Amino acid sequence: MAKKQHTDAPVQKNDVITAVIEDLTHEGDGVAKVDGYALFVPYGLPGETAQIKVLKTKKGYGFGRIIERIEESSERTEAPCPIYYQCGGCQLQHMTYDAQLRFKHKQVQDAITRIGGIDNIPVHRAIGMEDPWRYRNKAQVPVGTRSDGHLKAGFFQKRSHRIMDMESCIIQKEANDEAVQTVKRIADQHNIKAYDEENARGTLRHVVTRQAHTTGELMIVLVTNGPDLPHKKDIVRDITEAMPNVTSIMQNINTKRTNAIYGEKTTLIWGNEHIYDTIGGISFAISARSFYQVNPEQTKALYDKALEYADLRGNETVIDAYCGIGTISLFLARKARHVYGVESIPEAVTDAKRNAELNKLDDITTFAVGEAEELVPWWHQANGLQPDVFVVDPPRKGCDEKLLQTMIDMQPEKIIYVSCNPATLARDLKILEDGGYAAKEVQPVDMFPQTNHIESVTRLEKRAEKSV
Ligand code: SAH
Repeated sequence: MAKKQHTDAPVQKNDVITAVIEDLTHEGDGVAKVDGYALFVPYGLPGETAQIKVLKTKKGYGFGRIIERIEESSERTEAPCPIYYQCGGCQLQHMTYDAQLRFKHKQVQDAITRIGGIDNIPVHRAIGMEDPWRYRNKAQVPVGTRSDGHLKAGFFQKRSHRIMDMESCIIQKEANDEAVQTVKRIADQHNIKAYDEENARGTLRHVVTRQAHTTGELMIVLVTNGPDLPHKKDIVRDITEAMPNVTSIMQNINTKRTNAIYGEKTTLIWGNEHIYDTIGGISFAISARSFYQVNPEQTKALYDKALEYADLRGNETVIDAYCGIGTISLFLARKARHVYGVESIPEAVTDAKRNAELNKLDDITTFAVGEAEELVPWWHQANGLQPDVFVVDPPRKGCDEKLLQTMIDMQPEKIIYVSCNPATLARDLKILEDGGYAAKEVQPVDMFPQTNHIESVTRLEKRAEKSV
């Protein structure tokens, strides 16, 4: 049945056209232009000429698929992963690593200029990895049932909820790959049934594994659809026999029909509740539910940059909002008078306090559970807390406006903004600029090679007089 086409589109569904890819979206898809009309084409690179099949047209833009590349970009490379084009995990494997770093730099630069309306601020070249593979310290893998009835574990196929059985993921540390395979095999041997999203039956939903970079300790979390895990003892024995570097096996119970991986309850099945890692001389105890950066090598580069931008002399009061397990807080505490951390997940705050003690920094740090936008205004109003340096490291949605306003009211000399989303970073920088702060420089750090995710640190300073 022929569908009505949008009249402003110069092409129609199923047309096959030849066009030049001119740009990339922030997700890394190619943008081809046909008489000024934008066609989004996955895996196209700027400068390439391609034969494109039009899949869908909308007002102002459409979608296409490359049938054949007529002229290839020098930035194109062979994606080494055999399931790259089916899996939704990576988006940039077809791009050379140098081009990926340039792409990320440009994304940050463009967001700051276009959304933030800020010109003339240096955005440095992205700090990349020497070997941008096998870097992830954490895998979170859904479990399903193969057509032959055995278990499968892997990532969701692009834009779907179909699980692709996977043996190896080349951005994961080998130990995580091995742990996922081992758990899959052992659970299968003990006849554990995979959770089925359709009818909410079955036991095993996800396998989560996290390895501490410096100690090699490995935590496995079995996410189950209820408290029962049949043959628990045997499963533990088999896993620990197969993988001696496993130091912790946890169970998390998630009975909800949701895409969220974790449920509320986490219990220890075997070993320790934490794994221990070290970054830049500071030790961290990490528990199952706590946020911990996924790329240890680059995390050090990121935190070093935050420390450099904070330029501490030893007498400063610092607030670290969205502090997780206190990683940035403790990095800065060594050089500051006192650091106040705030974080919404209670387990993470418990970890932060434990980490402060572990590093003998507990007398100069204070960690509190709460929403930063609620707690920091209270610190300001009720306690008259006056920070010299304010660090934020919010999730993708950026900082709450109430927090930004409080930061402006508190008048710290410096603000360090660590961001995993250039769009919300730019939006928030604009508010801070309007509130009397000047963004001085931005350093992108490539925490997530092969993917379209972008991390950066921005240094802001209070302007001499507040422009109200
Ligand atoms: N700085 C830490 C964590 C950054 S991730 C690190 O580098 O490891 C962001 C953290 O913000 C997460 O731990 C998340 O639980 C927390 N978070 C999310 N919303 C929050 C809010 N409104 N107030 C405080 N913390 C929040």
